Amino acid sequence: MIKGLYIHIPFCENICTYCDFPKMVASEKLQYEYLNALIIELIHYQSEYQSLETIYIGGGTPSFLNQELLQKVLHAIDTYIDLSKIKEFTIEANPKDVNENFVKLIKKHHVNRLSIGMQTSHVGLLKTIGRNHTSQDIKSAIDICHKHNLYNINIDIIYAIPGENVYEVASDLQFVFSLKPTHISIYSLILEEKTKLYFDYTKGIITLVDEDTEFRMANVINSLMIESGYIQYEISNYSLPGFESKHNLGYWNLEEYLGIGMGASSQFDGCRFVNHKSLHMYLEQIIKSSTGIMSEEDFNPRQETILLGLRKKTGVSLADFEAVFHQTIFEAYPELEHFIDLGLLHKNSTHLFLTDKGIMLSNQVFLSLF
Ligand code: SF4
Repeated sequence: MIKGLYIHIPFCENICTYCDFPKMVASEKLQYEYLNALIIELIHYQSEYQSLETIYIGGGTPSFLNQELLQKVLHAIDTYIDLSKIKEFTIEANPKDVNENFVKLIKKHHVNRLSIGMQTSHVGLLKTIGRNHTSQDIKSAIDICHKHNLYNINIDIIYAIPGENVYEVASDLQFVFSLKPTHISIYSLILEEKTKLYFDYTKGIITLVDEDTEFRMANVINSLMIESGYIQYEISNYSLPGFESKHNLGYWNLEEYLGIGMGASSQFDGCRFVNHKSLHMYLEQIIKSSTGIMSEEDFNPRQETILLGLRKKTGVSLADFEAVFHQTIFEAYPELEHFIDLGLLHKNSTHLFLTDKGIMLSNQVFLSLF
């Protein structure tokens, strides 16, 4: 039963220095061609939308599409999916693109959640990561949403940006709290190969935040979130009570989902598929088969139940694991006992979950599962 649909819009105004997502700068003509292909893929799967509960349009920067093109995608979704059954419909936006017309258009097409890529509010750090907006754009975006009664808003933050200190992380959070979003995603910067930031690092132009400082940043984040009433329900995600991301919880609960568009992945019928990551190949594949699927990926449900389940604050249900895989978690992964002894994992009568210390050192636990 497919519960989530992800739709990828790969276009951006400019490329951020840290980004390794499938994205590109493209002419409107190419964007139009891509959207036609995307709609063919959307239609191809139309018999699979009966049990759909969430839709997520991500990128790239979906808000970068002009009104006509955005309307084209939203109209197609409206045509082929019964949106009255959809519990959560999110679109990602660059704060600079959120104006009256944008909000009116998405609301008209039943989008009920906005995810805004803020990353940081500090001018120098925004420049380091190549973002083209300001903190004033973020404030104005939120004001416009609230004016149109769109309150279910996520703000994305990145911390441990080269050159950032603990006070700047704290002030980003204070700024975000003042905007009253329902949800905050906060990730430490990951240096990905083949990015401008990686190149600058190898040339010695930038230095990374050291581990100790990053650890202190994580502690400050946790304390400030708790003080402000945001509940951590996943390693990098916090929300006000009742505003957890239903779409992302679907991934962490290993529910079936469809991903359409360039580079999107899908998981159904016990398999995981990935679409072509190059635009040219994606367009060709759509002509051949009406889907963008490039290949089937390795998918190990037993391992992923643990890897994804432990990302959630509630952890993995011991009984559910045993019912599905016919062995206990510790029969499947005896090495996990060791992390209980180290205080990184805790087991109560129903669940296995990361402790606060375990959340900070979660990579140690995850790496042991491979
Ligand atoms: S806006 Fe997002 S997808 Fe586009 S380049 Fe920046 S990080 Fe990558």
